Amino acid sequence: MTEVSGLEALHPGTLDCVHCGMCLTSCPTYQVTGRETSSPRGRVYLLRGVAEGEIPLAETLAEEAYLCLGCRACETACPSGVAFGSLLEQARSVVDRAGLRRGWAKRIEQFALRTVVPRPRVLHGLLGAVSVAQRLGLDRLVLPWLPRRWREMHGLLPRIPAASERRRLPEVTPAIGEQRGRVAFFEGCIMPEVFGAMNRATVRVLASQGFEVVVPAAQRCCGALQAHAGELELATELARANVIAFGQAGAQGDAPENAPGTASATAPATGFDAIVVNSAGCGAALRELDHWIGDEGAPLAGQVRDVCEFLDQVGMRGTPRPLSKRVAYDDPCHLIHAQGVADAPRRLLEAIPELELVAHQDPAGCCGAAGIYNLTHPEMSAAILAKKLDALEAARPAIIATGNPGCLMQLQAGAQSRGMNVRLAHPIELLAETL
Ligand code: SF4
Ligand code: SF4
Repeated sequence: MTEVSGLEALHPGTLDCVHCGMCLTSCPTYQVTGRETSSPRGRVYLLRGVAEGEIPLAETLAEEAYLCLGCRACETACPSGVAFGSLLEQARSVVDRAGLRRGWAKRIEQFALRTVVPRPRVLHGLLGAVSVAQRLGLDRLVLPWLPRRWREMHGLLPRIPAASERRRLPEVTPAIGEQRGRVAFFEGCIMPEVFGAMNRATVRVLASQGFEVVVPAAQRCCGALQAHAGELELATELARANVIAFGQAGAQGDAPENAPGTASATAPATGFDAIVVNSAGCGAALRELDHWIGDEGAPLAGQVRDVCEFLDQVGMRGTPRPLSKRVAYDDPCHLIHAQGVADAPRRLLEAIPELELVAHQDPAGCCGAAGIYNLTHPEMSAAILAKKLDALEAARPAIIATGNPGCLMQLQAGAQSRGMNVRLAHPIELLAETL
C-alpha cells in the first residue's frame, strides 16, 4: 500500500462497497455526466485503487473528490453501509496535503474557511461592508467591470441585512409558561449575519414551547465547511472549542431532571435536554463530532437535534393560526441523508391549519449548493439546480420550505433567475408566524 499519509486510514472503509451499483441513480454528478468515475461506486473504487497503490494519487482523484457534492444521497441508497461522507472528507484531506489542489478556487476557499468564517468579527466586518455596498448600489456599479466568475458569484449573494439585524442572540431566553426543559441553541457563524431573523424565530418558538434557551457565547463555527474542504485540523480545533463551550454553559444551570416531554428522560450528558440546531449542514457536522475528535465529542454529538426533529419529538403545545398557502417542502441533503430526518418537518407543517403541503418530483435530490460548490463548480451546480427547480416549479407552491441556509440561498437565487413568484422560508419561520 502507498505511503501517502491518510490513505491507510480510509482504505478499510472502501472495502464495504460490494459494487452493486444501487447508488448510481441517486448521485447528482452521475446523473449529469453518466460517467462511472463520477459516481459513488467509481469514486470508492478510485480511492481503493489509490490506497492499494494500483492507481497513482493524481489529478483524477483530486478532481473527483471535489466534483462530488458530499450530498450523501449515496449513503441513503447503499445497502452495504458505505460511509461515503467520511471517506470523502478523508480523501479531500489527502488530496490537499499532497498539494494536488491549486488555483483560484483553492485560494478563495482557504481564505474564506481559515480567515473569515471561523472569526466572527472578521465575518461581521466583511459582511457589513457588503451590506453597505448593496444598500448604496455600489456592487451593481462595479459589476460590469468584474471578471465573469465574480459576476456569477454576485448572483448567488443574498441581500445582507442591516447592522441592526445582524446581532447575536441573548445568552438566555426564558421559557414562556410552564417550563418543560432547558436547551442550548447552536446559532452558527453565517446564520446570525445573513439569517438572524430565522435564528430569532427559532428561539421564539422554542421559548413558546416551554424551553429555556441558552446560547453559549463561546460557541464557534461547526467546522462543516472546513471538513468538507479537507481542512480537518481546523475542523477538529473548532469541534474541541464547541465541546468546551457547550459543556461549560450546560454546567452553569440546573438541568431539569426527567423533565416530561423532553428529548431525553435520563440525566443529560451536557447539562441540556438537547443541543438544538436549525441549519442542516451544522447539525450533521455536530452530530458527527466523534468522527473527528473521538469520545471527547460523543456527549455533545449525541444530544444534537434538528429544531424540527426536536419539536416533533417533544410535541407542540398550542394550536397554530391558519396559513392558507401552498407549501412545497424540500429536504436538505444534510438533514435527510446525513441525519435521517425527513418526516418531522412535514408533520409540523401539516399541523398548521389550512396549509396545503404539496409534493414535488425531486424532494431528496441535491440543489447544487453544497457549501461553496456553487462557486467552485458553477456549471455542474447550475445543471443540478435546474432539475430541482423544474420539479418545484411544476408543483406551483407559494412557499418553498427547507431547513438549510445554503439551500435557501441557492433556491432563492435559482427561483429569482427563473422569475418564479415564490417565497423561500425555513419551516421554523412558518411555525413562528403561526404560533
Ligand atoms: S456524496 Fe452525492 S455527489 Fe458525492 S458520490 Fe455520493 S451521491 Fe454522488
Ligand atoms: S450502493 Fe454501496 S455497495 Fe453498492 S456500489 Fe454503491 S457504494 Fe458500493
